[in-house]
Amino acid sequence: MAAQTLHITHEYESVNPFDGTTVKTFVPTTDEQLEAKIVTAQACYETWRHKTYAERAVVVNRAAELMHAQFDTFAKFATLEMGKRIGESRDEVNFSADILAYYAKNAERFLAPVKLNPKVGHAHMESSPIGIIFCVEPWNFPYYQLARVAGPHLMAGNVIMVKHAGIVPQCAIAFEKLWIDAGGPPGLYTNLLIGHSQSDTIIDDPRIKGVALTGSVAAGKSIAARAGANCKPSSMELGGSDAFIVLDDADLDVTIPWAVWGRMYNAGQTCCAAKRFIVAESIADEFLAKFKTALAALKPGDPADAQTTLGPLSSESALVDLVKQVDAAVAHGAKLALGGKRIDRSGSFMQPSILTDITPANPAFREEFFGPVALFFRVQTEAEAIALASDSDFGLGGSVWTKDEARGQRVASQVETGMMFVNNISWSDAELPFGGVKYSGYGRELGDMGIQEFVNKKLVRFGKIEAPATVPKHA
Ligand code: NAP
Repeated sequence: MAAQTLHITHEYESVNPFDGTTVKTFVPTTDEQLEAKIVTAQACYETWRHKTYAERAVVVNRAAELMHAQFDTFAKFATLEMGKRIGESRDEVNFSADILAYYAKNAERFLAPVKLNPKVGHAHMESSPIGIIFCVEPWNFPYYQLARVAGPHLMAGNVIMVKHAGIVPQCAIAFEKLWIDAGGPPGLYTNLLIGHSQSDTIIDDPRIKGVALTGSVAAGKSIAARAGANCKPSSMELGGSDAFIVLDDADLDVTIPWAVWGRMYNAGQTCCAAKRFIVAESIADEFLAKFKTALAALKPGDPADAQTTLGPLSSESALVDLVKQVDAAVAHGAKLALGGKRIDRSGSFMQPSILTDITPANPAFREEFFGPVALFFRVQTEAEAIALASDSDFGLGGSVWTKDEARGQRVASQVETGMMFVNNISWSDAELPFGGVKYSGYGRELGDMGIQEFVNKKLVRFGKIEAPATVPKHA
């Protein structure tokens, strides 16, 4: 048997961040295995592309049903590997199943031919699959991120190969098995335990026709550059530093619980979490006092216990990096209104924290804090709130809180992000396109836009026009 090339520099390990135990380690995919998997995926595409939408929907709907039926098994892997509180893990699994079912139901409608009206004859745009789509996904929503690519792209007739984050291999493997259990043909959905250089090799491969990444800006720049060098379409869902704008007429009884939820869901590790709290000066003291009290009441504990209100961060390195980031913010003049340290107990727990007095010169002003750290700002006017919310390298989402919907609409329209929410936290639904501008990336996932990213939009024109008698001058 030929020797296999092992990329032992890249780790795939289940480490429980609640107690630091290494639960399981995984052997990475070799280059030879990778090639065999691409061959299988390509062969699968050649038949899957010709299936009807109804035939594809049988498999995708079955996957959704299985996820719902086995939601607790899936949920436990997420809680074990990245510390998500069990109730949130269960919600994520069920939401992921709903996304699959949504595309099974709506894909044919979304991709139906669109009639056009040329001056002569008639024409339409039709949509067809393009091949293998390579997806690179993050750990923070270990199933939802996969459903966001699997649902639309498989229903469109593509097949996908996925490199999931190194810290959630059991989630990654469980989601791959789902497609086999659902009756999907080999190669329809392929999980890859590969290193970053192997990702580059895949993107260079002519059989790969599109690249989708959800992750950090650094990963986005690297993967987008590689896709660009190969002239391949890509979509980038990157970081965010969403503003949570509290106008002077906001009802704080409604707003404070959402502020807590918006910052603390998934232990603060959400791309579209509320990260910058921009509050009208007239109610800023009251907001800050109530926000502090609510955050301080959260109790760290085992994320597998449904009563726990504060889970660990996803890994020890995530915690160490976040504490360093807070220290750097303070060294540059920010003040801590709450927290700022790791919690003195076992596991990778961070105190819920609030930073104030962050000047534009402070690096923290432009950074994403991926954990339970809120940046707090005071503003005098609505215009100042809009300007501050837009003064970010990111442009993912944001929210505005007011009793006056017209005012909320006015503010929402002016903030430079891909999504704005009025009296509603930045969040996603299967039906609503999700994505950002600036360093938050490009392209959209979910909704009808999410299925349009990796299809060939082909113009077909019909006409009965006689050729001109003479060749036109410009020909
Ligand atoms: P990350 O380090 O960029 O990792 C994300 C994925 O990219 C992982 O699978 C990672 O693999 C891979 N990766 C990283 N660098 C790579 C490279 N050079 N080549 C190939 N693959 C590479 O991000 P993270 O820290 O895990 O996730 C958090 C970030 O994702 C945050 O910035 C968050 O805001 C963003 N996010 C955005 C959205 C959105 O929809 N906009 C949603 C969720 C998260 P390894 O784990 O093996 O290194």
